[in-house]
Amino acid sequence: MLASLRNIIEEVNSARSLPEVLEIIVREMKGALNAGVCSIYLFDRTDQRYVLMATDGLRRQAIGKIRLRMREGLVGLVAAKEEPLNLQNADKHPNFVYFPEADESPFHSFLGVPIIHHRKVLGVLVLQQTNERRFAQEEETFLVTIGAQLSGAIAHADETGVLSRLSAPRQGKSQEAIFQGIASSPGIGIGKTVLASVNTDLSQVPERNCDNVNMEVSSFNLALESAKHDMWKLGQGLKDKLSPEEFALFEVYIRLLDDPTLIGEVVGSINSGKAASSAWSSVILKHVKTFRKMEDKYLRERAADVLDLGKRVLAYLQQDDVTVRTMPKHAVLVGEDLAATILADIPVDHLAGIISLKGSSNSHLAIVARALGIPTVMGATTFPMAELLGKDVIVDGFKGAIITRPSRARRKHYLALRREEELLDRDLERLRDIPCITPDGEHIALFVNTGLRQDVMRSLKSGAEAVGLYRTEVPFFAHLGFPTEDEQVLIYKEQLHAFAPRKVTMRTLDIGGDKALPYFPIEEENPFLGWRGIRISLDHPEIFLVQIRAMLRASENNSNLKIMLPMISSIGELDGALQLVNRAYEELINEEHLCIEKPPIGAMIEVPAAVYQVDQLAKRVDFLSVGTNDLTQYLLAVDRNNPRVAGLYNSFHPSVLSALHLIHEQASNAECEVSICGELAGDPLGAVLLVGLGYRHLSMSAGCLSRVKSMLLQVPVRKARDLAERSIQIAGANEVMQFLAGELKNPNLIKLYHRSIE
Ligand code: PEP
Ligand code: MG
Repeated sequence: MLASLRNIIEEVNSARSLPEVLEIIVREMKGALNAGVCSIYLFDRTDQRYVLMATDGLRRQAIGKIRLRMREGLVGLVAAKEEPLNLQNADKHPNFVYFPEADESPFHSFLGVPIIHHRKVLGVLVLQQTNERRFAQEEETFLVTIGAQLSGAIAHADETGVLSRLSAPRQGKSQEAIFQGIASSPGIGIGKTVLASVNTDLSQVPERNCDNVNMEVSSFNLALESAKHDMWKLGQGLKDKLSPEEFALFEVYIRLLDDPTLIGEVVGSINSGKAASSAWSSVILKHVKTFRKMEDKYLRERAADVLDLGKRVLAYLQQDDVTVRTMPKHAVLVGEDLAATILADIPVDHLAGIISLKGSSNSHLAIVARALGIPTVMGATTFPMAELLGKDVIVDGFKGAIITRPSRARRKHYLALRREEELLDRDLERLRDIPCITPDGEHIALFVNTGLRQDVMRSLKSGAEAVGLYRTEVPFFAHLGFPTEDEQVLIYKEQLHAFAPRKVTMRTLDIGGDKALPYFPIEEENPFLGWRGIRISLDHPEIFLVQIRAMLRASENNSNLKIMLPMISSIGELDGALQLVNRAYEELINEEHLCIEKPPIGAMIEVPAAVYQVDQLAKRVDFLSVGTNDLTQYLLAVDRNNPRVAGLYNSFHPSVLSALHLIHEQASNAECEVSICGELAGDPLGAVLLVGLGYRHLSMSAGCLSRVKSMLLQVPVRKARDLAERSIQIAGANEVMQFLAGELKNPNLIKLYHRSIE
């Protein structure tokens, strides 16, 4: 059975459309289980019925005609009960309904299993047999497995409207479609989709067609020439260092790029209508596969060379796509798995929105997008990117929805919403220069999180009292290799100067997890539990020391630097990092005779282990800052980047609140300053909770600052304290949010900022 399962899945994976998938399943399942009938019923949302969509064994004329309500017939019963139904004498069951058009009369036994995706019943998979017998348990599990495999493809068809077109073929005309993803940066973006294509992962290149074959062929030729030239230059540069045999390899590479068979295949595919990048990627991946299967070890190893050349050419081809430099105004940037890196060299003021098929609202891209105020939907797994490139879309960053071909009424609604938001922002601008003092006279210091060059202006305008978190990895993204010490000095100086005399807390390099530098790839099974943050810095003191030296040198004439260490999970790590920081400082003072004030050094509390050692950590540093983004992911065991579990990721979880309470208590006992720099601080409801838990320094994206301030100006600390105490007692995160939204009277703000609560 396992072999049949594997075969069916392989066949299904190579199918090109949903009807083909359904046909394969009914045919193969009937054969594999030696049944009389295999059928699939799918839920049609338009008329709220389960419709027969494919069958092998019943009359084909019945397809599309048999339609059952929830609980109607055996199929409706399986759907309602959300569990398998295995009957020996189906025709004697009170729910049995006879459909003459299907001719079910000879079949007695019935096995139906629900097809469920994300807890929603999408359809029912049915097996029937003439003899009276219960299907075996193995057969039942087999059917359940197939149902689970099928559910993703059906959910996709459902969201893209393919399903309703299939079940009601005469509907014809293309209609408005709404794709659901994860709300990741609030706001309404209206614009044309543009492919973000700096990713040279060949398997991620979408299947696209081209409009102009000649243009596509010539950009392919140009990309080949450029890649060949690079190879030649690389070879010449290394000539002195290589043996003649090693040097000859470069010629082999160039010859590979000249190979007429390879070129012919790609050009043929372009001529058949494919975009050059899609054609090139498919051909290269096919060749890589062939090389990998070869007996000969030497030839097998050539797969890596072909792949590398493939990526080099792709990089040039993608420069030719609508990318970075030619980004039109009001563009909606779309990509399979966009990382924060992409924003480092894009004219972000051209962006109306961002859509990423992977990732979630806690991915770093989402955080940077929030800082820049770009409406963003992450984890839009069902968005058919390739079909919709260059098309008008609406990005609803409040609800995590993407709307294509909007109806007039919907467009009007969104335009009004955007206007409403603009007015609110303008209204909040007046708060800029007002200090954040609660009605009972407590000052709450509001800081800003930065990283991109572009958000310096925005941050300055936000009225922030300091930079609570400068993510230094962000400028590293935009470089071709690790920036030199001098280059880093310039970058850091710019930040320190721009904000002086306000303090700037620079966090040392925090790469790994979902933040990979293009020139320092880290491939791991479990990246968030792997080589990340301070762990990399301690393993590479040569990189870490250069960064610390650069920060210190940049602060020579500004005394507003603070240095912060990310991902500390043990005292040993902190001691090791502090030693290196001291070493860099001593060198600059004693050996290079620079006149630099020693900056305050702090540690981030973002790993559960650190929560329980706050007292010991606090003794060693000048300040602490809580990273609620990572703390939430590690406490709740929910990958912050995984859209499948995004619904479980919530910093309002009472356990997170208890941890925050504990951290604050220990830090105050140790008389150590403690702030918050995770996204919870930028949420008006979250900010109230944090104030209630005792925090007085909150650092957030620039775009959130005025909204948070507007809320805190209205909530006395004693009320915040009461709300925090009561929230910790509540059972779940959503209930905490509901409770706070009900208690805090700032209707406009909550309506716009937290539309998902409605
Ligand atoms: C955090 O984890 O809360 C944090 C501020 O750091 P980052 O989001 O960059 O991991
Ligand atoms: Mg973090």
